Amino acid sequence: MRVAAIIVAAGRGSRANRSPGSPGQPKQYAQVGGRAIIAHSIQAFDRHRDIADLIVVIHPDDASLCADACPPSSKLATPVFGGSTRQGSVLAGLEALSGRLAPDDLVLIHDAARPFVDSETISAVIAALATTPGAVAASPVADTLKQASGSQVVTATIDRTGLWRAQTPQGFHYKSILDAHRLAAERGLHDFTDDSAIAEWAGLQVKLVLGREGNTKVTTPEDIAMAEFRFAPGTSVMETRTATGFDVHKFAEGDHVWLGGVKIPHNARLEGHSDADVVLHALTDALLGTIGDGDIGQHFPPSDPQWKGAASILFLKDAARRVLNRGGKIINVDVTILAEAPKVGPHREAMQATIGDALELATGRIGIKATTTESLGFTGRREGIAAMATATVQLPSTDAS
Ligand code: MG
Repeated sequence: MRVAAIIVAAGRGSRANRSPGSPGQPKQYAQVGGRAIIAHSIQAFDRHRDIADLIVVIHPDDASLCADACPPSSKLATPVFGGSTRQGSVLAGLEALSGRLAPDDLVLIHDAARPFVDSETISAVIAALATTPGAVAASPVADTLKQASGSQVVTATIDRTGLWRAQTPQGFHYKSILDAHRLAAERGLHDFTDDSAIAEWAGLQVKLVLGREGNTKVTTPEDIAMAEFRFAPGTSVMETRTATGFDVHKFAEGDHVWLGGVKIPHNARLEGHSDADVVLHALTDALLGTIGDGDIGQHFPPSDPQWKGAASILFLKDAARRVLNRGGKIINVDVTILAEAPKVGPHREAMQATIGDALELATGRIGIKATTTESLGFTGRREGIAAMATATVQLPSTDAS
């Protein structure tokens, strides 16, 4: 299943697309936090592991603006020129993806002017598409809604039960939304205000997923000022987090152990539901700890037969994906193995290479150390092996959770 994202940036805006100091420049190119608003939006999707393709739909007049503002990315295709309406622009983006996506693949459509979109919201939209052809990030209306006359005298209070504010990204099964857009264009219908509305018109089921309140659209000069504040150093810097993991497995009859993803000959094996790799289990828990996302047993319960005999590198990769999906970056990991035997030294480089591969981390950022416990305790009695790990990651501090 391939997932592409379309960033819609062709609008000229009318309400407030003028950023101070950049007269006449569409708001999506206004600089906030040292980069164009569109660059923040592109980066949010670029760094999301599940997104394979990114396409930006721009106004023909903005080609050089985009060339300057859009960050380089291997996922990013050549920009596509949009139509005179947002709807036409999205259709142009959808058509441009036809060579890359199969009918059942997924496409997320996002407004360039929502630079605060976070990876969890993107993940939630993608996840929802497993069970429905359309999914929209949205937030429940919290304010009391008033209806007013032309002179702003209240005429009614509207029941807000069941009312949501639609955000982007809005995600769809590729062929479903492409067909819906084509049909709307054929019928001369151009006034839909979002892609969900087109999907709804075409009879597709659209589900709402909870988006963050902070996933706002930058529309007015006030919004641009507020965005500058939100991206300012001190509010949007990366924060550093550290967490630990610990694991023990006991010896049983056998002729090899798995440690750090490496098969090592030994006069016993480690007993466990998976391959009992204590090093990778401790590391996985350390990574999960940095984002407060449970532990290895929660994500891969030993009661689930599908993990029987599983290679634990899968667990580590999953933890790394969870960190990356939060916009995180792994800085370093470190493990201490407590065992009388086998000797770890001869296998250190192989463990570093295997873990480095899984975490996309240089081997110099992967510590593998071993110690005996001087014949004391269960490790000293050669009853099993213990491993303790730490992981340090950086996460955007705008990611409040
Ligand atoms: Mg374990």
